[in-house]
Amino acid sequence: MAIAWEILDKVRKLKQQEAFVSPTKDKKANINIVLAYPSPYHIGMSSLGYQTIYRLFNLMDDVVCERTFLPENTDLYRSKKTKLFTFESEREVQNFQIVAFSVSYETELLGMIENLELSNIPILSSERNQKYHPLVVAGGPITFSNPLPMGPFVEVVLLGEAEDLIHTMIEFYKEIPDREELLKKLSTQYGFYVPSIHGNYLPPIAKADHALLPAYSAIITPNTELSNMFLIEPERGCSRGCTFCVMRRSTNNGMRLFTPELVLSKVPEFVKKIGLVGAAVSDHPKIVAILEELVLNHKKQIGISSLRADRLTPRFVEMLALGGYKTLTVASDGPSERIREFMEKKIKEKHLIRSAELAKEYNMKTLKLYQMIGIPGETDEDIDEMIDFSLRISKIMKTAIGISPFVAKKNTPLDKSPFEGIKSIDNKLKKINKALGRYVDVRTTSAKWTWIEYQLAQGDYESGFSALKAYRLGGNFSAWKEAFESTGKVINHLQKQPELV
Ligand code: SF4
Repeated sequence: MAIAWEILDKVRKLKQQEAFVSPTKDKKANINIVLAYPSPYHIGMSSLGYQTIYRLFNLMDDVVCERTFLPENTDLYRSKKTKLFTFESEREVQNFQIVAFSVSYETELLGMIENLELSNIPILSSERNQKYHPLVVAGGPITFSNPLPMGPFVEVVLLGEAEDLIHTMIEFYKEIPDREELLKKLSTQYGFYVPSIHGNYLPPIAKADHALLPAYSAIITPNTELSNMFLIEPERGCSRGCTFCVMRRSTNNGMRLFTPELVLSKVPEFVKKIGLVGAAVSDHPKIVAILEELVLNHKKQIGISSLRADRLTPRFVEMLALGGYKTLTVASDGPSERIREFMEKKIKEKHLIRSAELAKEYNMKTLKLYQMIGIPGETDEDIDEMIDFSLRISKIMKTAIGISPFVAKKNTPLDKSPFEGIKSIDNKLKKINKALGRYVDVRTTSAKWTWIEYQLAQGDYESGFSALKAYRLGGNFSAWKEAFESTGKVINHLQKQPELV
């Protein structure tokens, strides 16, 4: 195989800067798996799920798992006729027995398609055959809500928490050599979606055995969004009931906690930065004790993936500040108290104001608020309330606001809610920018891209063919629009708007 030197050189430089936490390097075994990420390296290596599955596969005696990512510069691979290869042994992806994708977001479907194409593996599972092509499977956060549109491209989807499922899959893979028979068997097992058999029916998602948890990093690298950070989950899931959220308490019976002792026992001495990752980390009853131990006793810097404004106390924020926090990030989610009540978010203005005061008291530089707009039943008054509140809070503390349009997800009470519409969202964003632009750093997610996300979040198996068409048309917004329209797959659920009080 010929790999162009400039491509190989870049991959080798990334590898040279990696530090392995688990003893997985240079392993040899009978079953060779590629763990593929449908976005570039710096995003994939920040995924705790990706890192965990890589570690667990490599802990299996008869499995070796290697990594590949969507290249930053896919055109270079094409022009240099270089096929996608793995980081570890630099072998072509197409020569492995199993290619396993970890997918986080709806729009990463294009990355998955491109990964397959660059690997010289037929994109559609119906065009693959056991003699020449690997078994293509997928898992990841997207499977908690809607993996149906990836159906045409994979043989199997592992639904929900995959820690146990990967063991089941490998056991059957060893026992049943015929692929069709294997798929039949897997389709009867808990947590497996086999698109060629299940079609548009999605079986329930899986819950991992507590003994296989917590999830934590296998490799530390400076070349990620979370540079040089060791990731670990002090909890999994959430006990709350926000009606827009896939990780709400109805998912796998809510929150599972790990003791501070267990969490600390996994943290390697040589790592300086620790990322505590989970849906509701600040709800952990011992979170302050964990931070005190990491920051005061082990002198670690820290990051936390989810802070609830109503959980912050002076000691909590003090530990964050001592652990290197410069920006305090909390989610408001709804633009007004009325909408937050409707979505069961239960965050009040007083909690957000208190967060700003604490951020100021502990000398942070910025308060960052996450907001959603376009929620069912939202009116101009709700947007006005958000603008007024943002101006008030920015007088306490330098404020940045990240605004995303709402997308209804499957497996939530707000599933099938309509998308507000690109024009209407754009008008709201313009109004917000005009009113806040001089006082608050406003970052917005494009209404057009959110419309695509909505089509895939609410889509079905056939929506995958629209995605393939969008890919072939160039993957920009017009391509997606034409693809969905020409295949008759545009979705906009026109259900009755809920009555808000
Ligand atoms: S939004 Fe946060 S608090 Fe609400 S259910 Fe989801 S994870 Fe829990």
